Amino acid sequence: MKIQTKVARRTFLRTALAASAVIPLAAIPLVLKADNHRVDEANPSAKALGYRHDAASVDTAKFPARATADGKTQFCDNCKLYQAGDDGWGGCSIFPGKQVKGKGWCGAWMKA
Ligand code: SF4
Repeated sequence: MKIQTKVARRTFLRTALAASAVIPLAAIPLVLKADNHRVDEANPSAKALGYRHDAASVDTAKFPARATADGKTQFCDNCKLYQAGDDGWGGCSIFPGKQVKGKGWCGAWMKA
């Protein structure tokens, strides 16, 4: 009876050790996948349109429309091309397959 308990404990410990090594590795692709779905501000198309995740950081010297009173109310989440998603990020037809931040902005903003 005691031998069976020792074997069961060893099996449990081996399984738990193996699981603890595998679970963090399995989580890495999910983190990378989430980041890969977001528009990179350094992407040439994003740069050409002045896209920024934070609309307050738009280069208003290059994109003066964002500095006007009307422009300051423009964000991705009130743009006609925005499709709301999770966690404040959503789709944009300008960047197929990528997500933009709801409080972001680019020069292609359109009134909804
Ligand atoms: S088109 Fe609209 S939703 Fe897309 S990045 Fe520009 S402002 Fe944001």
